[in-house]
Amino acid sequence: MASADEAGGEAGAGSFFRYCPSCASPALEFENGRRWACPDCGFVYYHNVAASAAVVLDLGGSIVLLRRAKEPRRGRWALPGGFVDPGEGALECALRECAEEIGWAPARLDFLASFPNSYRYRDVPYATCDLYFCARLPSAEGVRLAADPAEASEIALLPYGAIPWDDIAFPPAAMALRAYLRGRGVGIPER
Ligand SMILES: [Zn+2]
Repeated sequence: MASADEAGGEAGAGSFFRYCPSCASPALEFENGRRWACPDCGFVYYHNVAASAAVVLDLGGSIVLLRRAKEPRRGRWALPGGFVDPGEGALECALRECAEEIGWAPARLDFLASFPNSYRYRDVPYATCDLYFCARLPSAEGVRLAADPAEASEIALLPYGAIPWDDIAFPPAAMALRAYLRGRGVGIPER
């Protein structure tokens, strides 16, 4: 269970709004690490959990990893993925992010796992619910991957044994990769 701070709560997001956005009262309170409430006008705003979707893509025994071109965790490895847009399903998001970030998307995805995470953007912490999907093809033949340079400086196809465990940008992505490899009966280094 993540602490409120790790989850983007009390000690993090709570200090970002000093005045009620509705009536400008300075009495605005941040409650339970998740909502602002104004005792003067009754305004309530939830700092809700944001959903993200990412994909473990296995092409013939190699996993697709992207080297992040932007903060946070620039230069470290990530799975193709991103935040779910308003009005979008998590599966659609996963397929869209593949198309955008690696220039290709598999025909189908299976649900793999979900973990809580936190994401700091311009110093504002967001608690997230990360959903992981997976797809496995017998080989990388016929698959052309092209990085979006705004998102990734490099795309790598790394064999199971060459995954840079200590250099994965977000711990839940490593957890999802471990869950995938365990499901495949592949030996992975213990942490
Ligand atoms: Zn107010």
